[in-house]
Amino acid sequence: VIETGLREECGVFGIYAPGHDVSRTTFFALYALQHRGQEGAGIVTCNGAQAAFHKGVGLVSQVFNEDNLRPLKGHLAVGHTRYSTTGSNTERNLQPVVIETLAGPLAVAHNGNLVNTSALRKALMERGVGLSTSTDSEVITQILAAPPSVWSSELPHEDDSWVTSIRALMSVAEGAYSLAVLTRNAIYAVRDPRGVRPLSLAEFETGWAVASETCAFSTIGARTIREVEPGEIVRISKHGLTSFQGVPAKRKALCIFEHVYLARPDSVIEGKSVHAVRHEMGQRLAEEAPVEADIVIGVPDSATVAAKGYAHKMGIPFTDGLVKNRYIGRTFIEPNDHLRKMGVGLKYNPLPSTLKGKRVVMVDDSIVRGNTAGPLVNLLRTAGAAEVHVRVASPPVRHPCFLGVDMAVQNDLIAHRFPVDRIRKHIGADSLAYLSEEGMLEVVKGQVEERRGHCSACFSGHYPMQVPEDLYGERTKQKLEAVWASTAGVRA
Ligand code: SF4
Repeated sequence: VIETGLREECGVFGIYAPGHDVSRTTFFALYALQHRGQEGAGIVTCNGAQAAFHKGVGLVSQVFNEDNLRPLKGHLAVGHTRYSTTGSNTERNLQPVVIETLAGPLAVAHNGNLVNTSALRKALMERGVGLSTSTDSEVITQILAAPPSVWSSELPHEDDSWVTSIRALMSVAEGAYSLAVLTRNAIYAVRDPRGVRPLSLAEFETGWAVASETCAFSTIGARTIREVEPGEIVRISKHGLTSFQGVPAKRKALCIFEHVYLARPDSVIEGKSVHAVRHEMGQRLAEEAPVEADIVIGVPDSATVAAKGYAHKMGIPFTDGLVKNRYIGRTFIEPNDHLRKMGVGLKYNPLPSTLKGKRVVMVDDSIVRGNTAGPLVNLLRTAGAAEVHVRVASPPVRHPCFLGVDMAVQNDLIAHRFPVDRIRKHIGADSLAYLSEEGMLEVVKGQVEERRGHCSACFSGHYPMQVPEDLYGERTKQKLEAVWASTAGVRA
């Protein structure tokens, strides 16, 4: 409805806690993960025999109520918040994916994106497995449900056959996946061998939990233990936490955009406070691209911390210049033509009392398509700003993401099409500067030899794995929709 640039595509949560109201706890954890997906949510519980679930389109608060939470009984649960493209497939694609197997219920909550989904779909269908959605998450679930020997004959035997099945999945899945998997008696936390998307573990008096971000643990009163390691499987059961090496870890490639924009500032990733990293990025930006000005403002809320860092380093006052309507979110009501033309006016209002006659630095976290920055600059000028200097706390986004962030097709990325000065003219700013890639990586890691631990492909074009030709230049999801459509046609 309103262009927001880019979106994380999911948040996952899992809990094992006998004697605890796991569905209610999962509900509040999903609330904390709402920023990772705002178009759908779901919870699956299990009592050691049967699963119960509820899923729906909308925000967590719109999907769940006392009536539909009450039947979700059990001592283990997984939950999911989802972002997806709007359309007829929205409901069908909701997660967690839940199926019945010979070994009992199986539910999968997935954050990330596989890059070899087409090949895996084909392999499943050749084995007679029908698929009913376009998601790679359903593919993951069906691979887990099949006998592991179908996918690999060289897997070491485990007493826990689900561990063998997860290893089989990890031996064929390529791409980004952080999973919370529910079976009859256990929750499994699984992270791909590069650790592209975050995943952390926590404990509380009666059990353990796994979540995409640690902010979910603070909400439910759990204590963060550690992150799930790349390539690791962690089983949470009556035996406590048990770690298995799923596949050997590869060179780590945590998505650097989690630090820049995606994660909540009160989360801790790689032992670092996301808030502190963003503040430092603002300071580094001030060192690299200073400008004479009277006030610094941030594009609320995601760029506020970086703007404070910029202001601090420059010795210029930080103030509020834009007020965000926090409740517009992702509405399902299309605005009429008049409102659509107003664009960002629906989402942001300027504060003339602080802007009038001032030379303003507006700090944003990123510029993706470039159709928000221009209207924002215009809003500030209309409110009386004498000059508007735009500073971006990340490098130019020139390449699409195939690993779990909904961004844009390459030709829609403004920095792919234009050099910085053309972008400056396009958005109508007096000056425009970005944080360098070097600066961003130094802030996140601090040490040169550790820099290879991140994916920064949307800035550099260097993907941590080979991206199949047919995905390049197209949003993965669009491709999958096409695969789904053609498959449906063949089978109809
Ligand atoms: S391409 Fe960008 S958004 Fe995607 S995983 Fe890599 S750093 Fe994150």
